[in-house]
Amino acid sequence: MRRVLLFDIDGTLVSAAGAGRRALERALAEHLGASRALAPGETWLAGMKLDGMTDRGIVREALVALGLAFDEGLCARVLDAYVAHLRQEIHAPGYRVLPGVDALLPRLAAAGAVLGLCTGNLAAGARVKLARGGLDRHFGFEPPGVYGFADDAEAREEIVAAALRRASLHLGRRVRPEEAMVIGDTPRDVSAARACGIPVLAVATGRFTAAELSACGAAHAVASLEAPEVPELLLGGRAAASRRNCAERS
Ligand SMILES: [Mg+2]
Repeated sequence: MRRVLLFDIDGTLVSAAGAGRRALERALAEHLGASRALAPGETWLAGMKLDGMTDRGIVREALVALGLAFDEGLCARVLDAYVAHLRQEIHAPGYRVLPGVDALLPRLAAAGAVLGLCTGNLAAGARVKLARGGLDRHFGFEPPGVYGFADDAEAREEIVAAALRRASLHLGRRVRPEEAMVIGDTPRDVSAARACGIPVLAVATGRFTAAELSACGAAHAVASLEAPEVPELLLGGRAAASRRNCAERS
């Protein structure tokens, strides 16, 4: 059985050091600045915790918080501007590939796992964030790739479902949720994956601790993807072997 591994990006594979927030602030200023002035010290995304949110969801909540009606056309223009700004902001100091990731991805691919993405980023933004660290080469961004992006839906569980559907297309057979695993760093990753029946390996390289992520229902929680047990947890080594043994005995 080939494991389908669906990776979140921010806080899981890379830290973009606030590049996404800065790019979105610039995009909102460009498109809303003429109609609404900010108070001194105020920001467009003031008080919003973006971890685990989808790009469209962030724009929607920002507009609502500013007392503005959600508008599809405006949202699309803001997100286009966001991606353009992200291409610059991503090069600011502080960006890093998170511990263990550089070694882990080729190892998983060599072991036959299907590597996919499952993220609240737009496809274009995901590519920018991964390319900065040379990680884009491990993933597909168009068919027959395995991915779920903010382009698919606003609700994270629908993004997970889209990634699982593409895994089935990729492998030419129905992939059951328990054959997949979502790797993410926030309670939102955990709840969205669980809504689809997919187990989660949570990684405490974002804003949440392993204990907090376990309490949300992650099947496994590790300090980082550098933890020695990670390849086996992702590839299902011992678990898969014990399931096989049970099947053979019964
Ligand atoms: Mg994340």
